[in-house]
Amino acid sequence: MSTYVFGHTNPDSDSIVGAISLSYLKNQLGEDTIPTRQGKISPETEFILNKFGGTLPELKTSVAGKNVYIIDFSDKAQAPEDIEQATILGIVDHHKLGDLTTSTPLECWIRPNGCSNTIVKEMYDSYDVKIPKDIAGMMLCAILSDTVIFKSPTCTKVDTKACKELAKIAGIEDYKALGMEMCIVKSAVQGASPRELNTRDYKEFLMGREKVGVGQLEVVDLSVFDDMKDSLFADLKIMKEENGLHTIMLLLTDIMKEGSQVLLLSDDASKFEMAFDSKLEDNQVWLAGVLSRKKQIIPFLQPQF
Ligand code: MG
Ligand code: MG
Ligand code: MG
Repeated sequence: MSTYVFGHTNPDSDSIVGAISLSYLKNQLGEDTIPTRQGKISPETEFILNKFGGTLPELKTSVAGKNVYIIDFSDKAQAPEDIEQATILGIVDHHKLGDLTTSTPLECWIRPNGCSNTIVKEMYDSYDVKIPKDIAGMMLCAILSDTVIFKSPTCTKVDTKACKELAKIAGIEDYKALGMEMCIVKSAVQGASPRELNTRDYKEFLMGREKVGVGQLEVVDLSVFDDMKDSLFADLKIMKEENGLHTIMLLLTDIMKEGSQVLLLSDDASKFEMAFDSKLEDNQVWLAGVLSRKKQIIPFLQPQF
């Protein structure tokens, strides 16, 4: 029976590439694993797979009775619904520790780096396993994506060093240009439905007894959303009701201006305003310098609940 290796729901590039890179490593170490995914991939991830000839991991949303490695999350809310009936052999992650627990001992690689694939790189090094060229290229892209080309406050020296080494293996000289190319792919939001955009990089968190949903779209120029905000808000309102959320927000992140325009709907918006010492106007506010959901949004909002 193969062990499944997968990342979080609404998978981003780190989750998809992490499933591929971690599964390959485990197989080199003599295990029988397959990379899987919990949902549809983003245009950015599609770009990465196409560029390096990566294979799209199989879609698996049920894991009962399976052995699994999880990567890029440890929150139940981001896992398959039947995760408690699976055996978690290991966790590789760079987020706050979530609420998943296990009944057997497990392998844990959890570090405050900018990307899970940086940790996978350290695993390859520690087991002395060679990273294939195509996988190195994909891992490089995952790190560039998660760290917003090193601009995110989550980025560490370990991430930049990993990128340098991966770029060398992949034979890519100008990897910042590659990061920019990915950002432009990500910024092509025209033609996508409001639901597609609101859920492209969307996560739910349990804060106190309330559920809070936070989506994020990173683009090179926020003006692409000028004509879309009404329809994004209308759909956020439906998502808030459908999912029984106390608060839902979408971060429209401008990676050039380095900040985020927040669109927010809440049963009590004062919690957000207190957390960020800011006033919403028409349910919106600009947060200068905010690029990271995990480091600059969640830790400030959570204590308000
Ligand atoms: Mg992720
Ligand atoms: Mg990640
Ligand atoms: Mg991200």
